[in-house]
Amino acid sequence: MMKIIFLGTSASKPTSERNPSSIALQYNNGEFILFDCGEGTQRQMIKKVSPMKISKIFITHLHADHIIGLVGLIQSMKLNGRTQLLHIFIPKDTIEYMNQLFSIPYFSADFDILITEVFDEKIEFDSYWIRPFPVSHGVPAIGYVFGVNDSRGKFNKKLCDELGIKGEMFAILEKNREIEINGRRISIEEVTGKIKKGKKIVYTGDTEKLDSFPEEAYNCDILIHESTFISQEDKKETYHSTVKEACEVAKLLSAKKLILTHISQRYETSEVAEESKKYCENAIVAEDFMEIKI
Ligand SMILES: [Zn+2]
Ligand SMILES: [Zn+2]
Repeated sequence: MMKIIFLGTSASKPTSERNPSSIALQYNNGEFILFDCGEGTQRQMIKKVSPMKISKIFITHLHADHIIGLVGLIQSMKLNGRTQLLHIFIPKDTIEYMNQLFSIPYFSADFDILITEVFDEKIEFDSYWIRPFPVSHGVPAIGYVFGVNDSRGKFNKKLCDELGIKGEMFAILEKNREIEINGRRISIEEVTGKIKKGKKIVYTGDTEKLDSFPEEAYNCDILIHESTFISQEDKKETYHSTVKEACEVAKLLSAKKLILTHISQRYETSEVAEESKKYCENAIVAEDFMEIKI
């Protein structure tokens, strides 16, 4: 099971209700993965997210409302005696700006920080993967598809012995998902239990409405889409999306659930929710500290 915790859901600046952008994802084993880190993110984490358990931070773009919280968070990690490596992912062509952010007086970390620029290449980790994709926000900016691989239980040894599965047959079974022994076809699920389907979460970061996405984004379980504005009049020529546009993207991707975030201070949550209901039944407006289990 995974848990998505919304730490900041406002557009551009904090309000009394909302903090600037950040989303934490608690992975099965307790590991935390952070998406964006706006000002005040570490305060939002208190009692919810352990900074020491954050392994990776995925930054969508380097506008201040998505990165200003990094410096304070890293300082706190240092004060808490962190030794574990922290891996930060940023959009291509932004490393210089990132280095400038970390060049403020007396700032240092006693642990290793690895910063990697990414663009559109799928990156595999142990049991999950990430697929960055370019978005349209007027500056180098990316969204991310976070995916968890299918998983299965362990082989039932007694049953395998009875059926005559041994040696190299396990590798064949893993690869082909089935094997034929003495004329009997045996599926991998028969000897390992049901396969647990993986999950996919798409987070757009800030962007205009996109017309195309990488294939990994389709049929996602959750789409977290920015919806800074309700009306086109408010949106003007900005590189952001309206609620209606976010709903259209959810349809395009056949997303099972849509979560709207990066809400402009000019709107009440109820107004955004009302607007979303016109176009999408399975939309939710994110609020700070909202948690979604997946
Ligand atoms: Zn923003
Ligand atoms: Zn932005």
